[in-house]
Amino acid sequence: MPLAVISIDAASWEDMQHLPVRGRHSLVRNVVGTFPTLTYPSHATLLTGSFSHGILHNEKECSKDWNIDAAAIKSRTIFDAAAEKGLSTASVSWPVTVNAPVSYLFPEIWPPRQAEEQIRCYMDVMSPGMIPFFEKYRHILRSFKGRDLDSFSTIVFSDILRKCRPDLAFLHLADIDCCKHQGLTDYSFIADCLERIYAAAAGYDIILLSDHSQRKARLKFSLRKAVNDSRLTFQEGAFFSYVYTDGIADGEAYEKLCIARDSYPDCIGEILNSEEVYERYHVKGGFSFVVEAGDGVYFTPSSNTLFSNVDKESFSMASHGYLPEKGPHAFFLLDSERASGKELDSAAMVDIAPTIAALAGFDLECDGKVLEDLYE
Ligand SMILES: [Zn+2]
Repeated sequence: MPLAVISIDAASWEDMQHLPVRGRHSLVRNVVGTFPTLTYPSHATLLTGSFSHGILHNEKECSKDWNIDAAAIKSRTIFDAAAEKGLSTASVSWPVTVNAPVSYLFPEIWPPRQAEEQIRCYMDVMSPGMIPFFEKYRHILRSFKGRDLDSFSTIVFSDILRKCRPDLAFLHLADIDCCKHQGLTDYSFIADCLERIYAAAAGYDIILLSDHSQRKARLKFSLRKAVNDSRLTFQEGAFFSYVYTDGIADGEAYEKLCIARDSYPDCIGEILNSEEVYERYHVKGGFSFVVEAGDGVYFTPSSNTLFSNVDKESFSMASHGYLPEKGPHAFFLLDSERASGKELDSAAMVDIAPTIAALAGFDLECDGKVLEDLYE
């Protein structure tokens, strides 16, 4: 049976209580993420089942350019394995998929503001099979983001399921993440998207899952201003920051970070060196340290002020990037006649990709294991 995988960005199992589910299902209430709990690294984990896939942040190392290209993923992906098996695939608005071996590919990208430029950027990255769908529905993409993008993705994905019947199809919807970032609760939009997809997905098994949840933020804090040393470079991820060192020994850099933590103990949590990060999360990169933010503290990339309030309905009312074991967690739900009906309290995010592969009828060698209890 063909399989449709829908990522509802930032949704927890609690959120799923407000969303429609089609029928017989099994589920994992808490899917414990990989480090860091950011959208692009987590979606790369969902594609690979690997801890060390090389996507360390939404953005490239100390850059504002997003990690959109699948070539940046250093582990084998589910799309690589499906292509080798000769399966037809679709992927709509899934992160880190530019140049992925997908039959109907519409990657998530962050194009410039001008509409004509945006269309050209999308035409450059979509697969030839996607072009007729883009032409048919691009009038929906008025703003190329937010609900316009989710509406477009839902309609295109549904049309592809109906007309092309790919063996394995992936979709990413971002509205719950956007709402939560602004402190809002609104399930009606995503509920409508899911109903639309269910209507198109007759004969499909469906997986609903997420990449992380969110935690509330009460205060913005500038770690880079607190440390104030030009030999240290920071790449913040809301509730943590990578620290890169240049021209300073790691021992001296660690002392600087500890002094900042002693001065602002409520704003700075754990300081892990790269070996400790590898030991705990199996993630390697060019950074020297990972610094965790204090409870409810959001590390801002601005160095204008040391402290600032989280403005109401700003995009930083809540966020992710917390250490994965702290939660709240992602979830996984299999909606299928094959579903065992079992409910697991928790599983690791690296187990999701091999489980999807097994349900689609192939193996994916990776760090995770197949969650065999979920289906018959
Ligand atoms: Zn996300």
